Amino acid sequence: MLLAGTLTPPLSLPTKMPQPGGAAQSIITPTLNRAMAAYLGLAIGDALGASVEFMTPNEIRHQFGVHRELSGGGWLRLKTGQVTDDTTMALALGESILQNDGKVEALAAARAFDAWMRAKPVDIGNTVRRNLIAFRRSGHPEAAPSEHDAGNGAAMRVLPVALACLGQSEAETIAAVRAQAHVTHHNAISDAGCETLVFMVQDFIAGANDVEVLHRRAHALAKRFPAYAFRTRPRLNPSGYVVDTLQAVFQAFFDTESFEDCLVDVVNRGGDADTTGAIAGMLAGARYGLAGIPKRWLNALDPKIREGCLHQAAALIGSSRT
Ligand code: MG
Ligand code: MG
Repeated sequence: MLLAGTLTPPLSLPTKMPQPGGAAQSIITPTLNRAMAAYLGLAIGDALGASVEFMTPNEIRHQFGVHRELSGGGWLRLKTGQVTDDTTMALALGESILQNDGKVEALAAARAFDAWMRAKPVDIGNTVRRNLIAFRRSGHPEAAPSEHDAGNGAAMRVLPVALACLGQSEAETIAAVRAQAHVTHHNAISDAGCETLVFMVQDFIAGANDVEVLHRRAHALAKRFPAYAFRTRPRLNPSGYVVDTLQAVFQAFFDTESFEDCLVDVVNRGGDADTTGAIAGMLAGARYGLAGIPKRWLNALDPKIREGCLHQAAALIGSSRT
């Protein structure tokens, strides 16, 4: 699918991608389109939600009415279009996969996250910090199993694994998901959430529809882990617990019909809004493709991050078995 007509300057989104080792070019395929949109969605959702992270829905209503612009600010005092750890950890992980011939390996991921932490990111989760410090001491890239480490920190950065593992078996994909997740979050509830998100992204990239994905992935997760049931009551003010996070994301995602409505819905729930925004954005990007992303959001997103997302999505698709 060509992008011409859906995205216009000043955006530097390509309509063709260079092929490895030569000047020949090919148009953006539907797979690449959805992969790029998932990456941009992750970053846009992160930037959108960060303005209202840790606020309650009432506080958001009082300050913004409905929050729907990449306006920066928030408790991190971000610039317009600036992203947080959700996006920058995903990019660090993706880079480590690319430097490792497309393979997802725990040690490479741990080293990438450690380098990311040394570069003083704008924010960092407690579980991530604690287990990266443990890695520095031990050199062992897998955190000890813990029933308490069920935060959303492994889920928020999992997108590169979904792209790198396209065309691989379910068992290989699950092993890759866990290799990256267990660097900081060694927990069965977190694993189940991460795996579900990866398979959802892959389903949408393959062209599956909402209803199929709802039953095959989201309801199936809630069947295996009843805590994840998301058709009970509205999940407002979601915490950093991965169950809260995915309940809010699934409600917003499956009860809206556009990229914009999904992201506006989820971030206005407040709480860990940058992370619900990032995860919902990744799913909605994969589901609705580049044409679904509002231009004003693409224009407002930090240009370096925008280019980084597009480049990494293309490189991961190029290195996958698709
Ligand atoms: Mg964040
Ligand atoms: Mg957060």
